[in-house]
Amino acid sequence: MRFLNTSIGRACPSAVSGIFNFMPGELRCRHKRGTMVVKIIGRGKDSGQSAQDVQRPLSHALPATSSLPLSKLPAFVLPTALKVPVEGTSDMKYCICSLVFCLSFVIAPGNVAALEPIPDKTVVLTFDDSVKSHFTVVRPVLKKYGFPATFFITEGFDFRENKQDYMSWEQIAQLHADGFEIGNHTRDHVGITDKTVNQLGVQLEGIDQQCHRYGIPKPISFAYPGNAITERALSVLEGHGIKFARRGGVPEFPYEEGRGVVYEPYQDHPLLVPSAGDARPAWELEDFTRSLDRAKQGRIAVLQFHGVPDTAHAWVNTPRDKFEAYMRYLARNDFNVVAMRELSRYVDPGKVPQDPNAVIVARQQVLATEKTHRGD
Ligand SMILES: [Zn+2]
Repeated sequence: MRFLNTSIGRACPSAVSGIFNFMPGELRCRHKRGTMVVKIIGRGKDSGQSAQDVQRPLSHALPATSSLPLSKLPAFVLPTALKVPVEGTSDMKYCICSLVFCLSFVIAPGNVAALEPIPDKTVVLTFDDSVKSHFTVVRPVLKKYGFPATFFITEGFDFRENKQDYMSWEQIAQLHADGFEIGNHTRDHVGITDKTVNQLGVQLEGIDQQCHRYGIPKPISFAYPGNAITERALSVLEGHGIKFARRGGVPEFPYEEGRGVVYEPYQDHPLLVPSAGDARPAWELEDFTRSLDRAKQGRIAVLQFHGVPDTAHAWVNTPRDKFEAYMRYLARNDFNVVAMRELSRYVDPGKVPQDPNAVIVARQQVLATEKTHRGD
């Protein structure tokens, strides 16, 4: 009998791919909640154990069938597990299916099975560009309501010299100490395109280093500067440990109006999470509430703000009184306000759509059809 040491999360599927090396017996999975043991059923016709014997103690939810297709595996089986080659006798196929199932149920408690259902009215608050008023105005308002939020930090523009309009790193560290999330918005506020994506690693690193210097954990959330996006950024962000990345409402809506679409987990790539709204100076309460309308049935409204007020970027200014009205609205209407990093309570960032662009194209088609019907 051999044992396999595996750790929680993504290491497990590679372990699964090695199951042909194991004799019938036990597979021992170690993870941070201790050691758990999964029995492997026999892989030949001579096996003395029946499939049901093995299944029963592990999960009552498993159907007692020996012809379970791989497509019926639970959604939280990690993607690479599905690449396990399935050959040989039907018994062997069953063995593989069972093992994948067992692993998913046993390992899941510390991982994806612990995901919470997404409450209706879930809203993510994000603030870009290290604006001074994030500290002087936004911070006290959020604290008053007990709202978490993510501040996406950049040293771009004239951050280093202009302490009238931009926070100091000491103030950013205080936001972290207050319990807010500090996210990465690139060192120099570089729009990420096919031409600039080769700079992304260095740009992320620049903010990471400053965070380290000021006792702030390495950011795991990212916002695309200027809302420019390219699919080529995804592998760089993932390799850098970014779990969720926020884009704007482009390309579904033009940049200027700040309109956007609600985030649909598992349809939208976790590194291309759309903004439901990107606050503009002319916004009224109804523009704000329109961004929230579809935050239900598993969808999440991710909101993008800049300065309150924004003394350096007038086109994305939010007046203080409007901002206070927006936050009051969230509080009075019992919205579930979270920071970007808290999305991992509800969504497994390791589970990504095959084509990150598919949902965007589908939305564009729906919006174009609606426009035609309205006669715009
Ligand atoms: Zn920005």
